[in-house]
Amino acid sequence: MERIILLCLVFTCLSAVHAQKFLFSPKWGPIGYKEREEHDRTAMDEIIKANEFHASRIIDGTTSLREGDIAVSAGRRSKVCFARSCLWAKSVDGHVYIAYKLSSEYTESETKLIKKGMENIEKGTCVRFVPRTHQRDYIDIQPKSGCWSYLGARGGRQTVSLQSPGCIQTGVIAHEFMHSLGFVHEQSRFDRDNYVTIMWPNIWRDRLRNFEKFKTDNLELPYDYGSIMHFGMYAYSQDGEPTIIPRNTQNSKDIKLGQASTLSHIDKMKINKLYKCGGKDDY
Ligand SMILES: [Zn+2]
Repeated sequence: MERIILLCLVFTCLSAVHAQKFLFSPKWGPIGYKEREEHDRTAMDEIIKANEFHASRIIDGTTSLREGDIAVSAGRRSKVCFARSCLWAKSVDGHVYIAYKLSSEYTESETKLIKKGMENIEKGTCVRFVPRTHQRDYIDIQPKSGCWSYLGARGGRQTVSLQSPGCIQTGVIAHEFMHSLGFVHEQSRFDRDNYVTIMWPNIWRDRLRNFEKFKTDNLELPYDYGSIMHFGMYAYSQDGEPTIIPRNTQNSKDIKLGQASTLSHIDKMKINKLYKCGGKDDY
């Protein structure tokens, strides 16, 4: 009898060790999300974490996610969105007003953070978020599954998903609004190979497509390692090794990729150039 109990105990221990290995080994662990100090995490790290656990790449029958968090509908434009038709309309007063509807499911503190994310975009640019009254084109902010947005203005209602609590952080919110404005990820620039090396063998095989390049209009602005739209160094890492490494610079070791909570100076310049915001005194 004792022997049977002992055997059962050994079996239980072995199962627990095996389960632990299954749950926490790099292969099965959170894809691309390495537990790092909070200040090292980028907005995109948080998005990857929220989306890998809660959102499949297929949002519904006709919509899927590209590059981890850009919603694409079958039959609609899916790549570069720097064409005029993808921009939000500019008002005669020089501002670009983006009407929004906010889900009533958000709490007061979540609403405050979402508005902080909007202010982050507005500060130093001509973009202004306004609650929707009658506007035909608007973003519909909802706590769906994961953090994602469509690229640029699609016309009519377009969803921005900010799941609670995973996506309710100013950096993540600002990142998704940047997609809504028409920006892709910084390392998707056509000229990115001059600035970073993609470590293909370290990327989770399933997610290689998230590192594609796009035929982007870089607005004659320098490559921005510190953009809120840049993937972190360990994005989609399958083994805890870096997936993107800065190159050809004397201080590459000191360069931090991505940004946690706020737009970079160049991010704001991008908005102002794309939307022809004019001089600083104009808004
Ligand atoms: Zn993104």
